[in-house]
Amino acid sequence: MAHTRGSLYKRCGCRDPLSTKRLGTGCPHLAEPEHGTWSFACTVRSPFTGTRRVRRGGYVAYGAAKRARNRLLAQNPDERVGQLWTVEQWLRYWLLLSATRVRPSTLRNYQAHVESYLIPACEQLANDPAHSVRAALNETPAPPSIETAT
Ligand SMILES: [Zn+2]
Repeated sequence: MAHTRGSLYKRCGCRDPLSTKRLGTGCPHLAEPEHGTWSFACTVRSPFTGTRRVRRGGYVAYGAAKRARNRLLAQNPDERVGQLWTVEQWLRYWLLLSATRVRPSTLRNYQAHVESYLIPACEQLANDPAHSVRAALNETPAPPSIETAT
């Protein structure tokens, strides 16, 4: 099966006062129209990564979550890649493609930049979304020097 229709559900950020754990889909106030947001979860097939469970949330209405899920499921696998892959996955895939298109020394430079400069900057951004892209790049160690062709 290429994908499943998955599920639509409502959840909120309320916490149990004793355990402080999130109530999520178990909050007693979710039946109230203004409480919580709608989410969807489904399984899709994506090139290179295989079957993957996708969860998206923050939709104000059931219909909005359902439309977003249906849009994702209606995409062909190539279109879906753009929504599912992280920048790190794209960079590693680009390195894979570059292996047959550039000289070995150029590929080594690309790999060094990706591994020591770009991916650490992406991880820093993922851990602290309020951090700016420029700040993350400025705080990452300088990349190795680039060999120039002569
Ligand atoms: Zn709640």
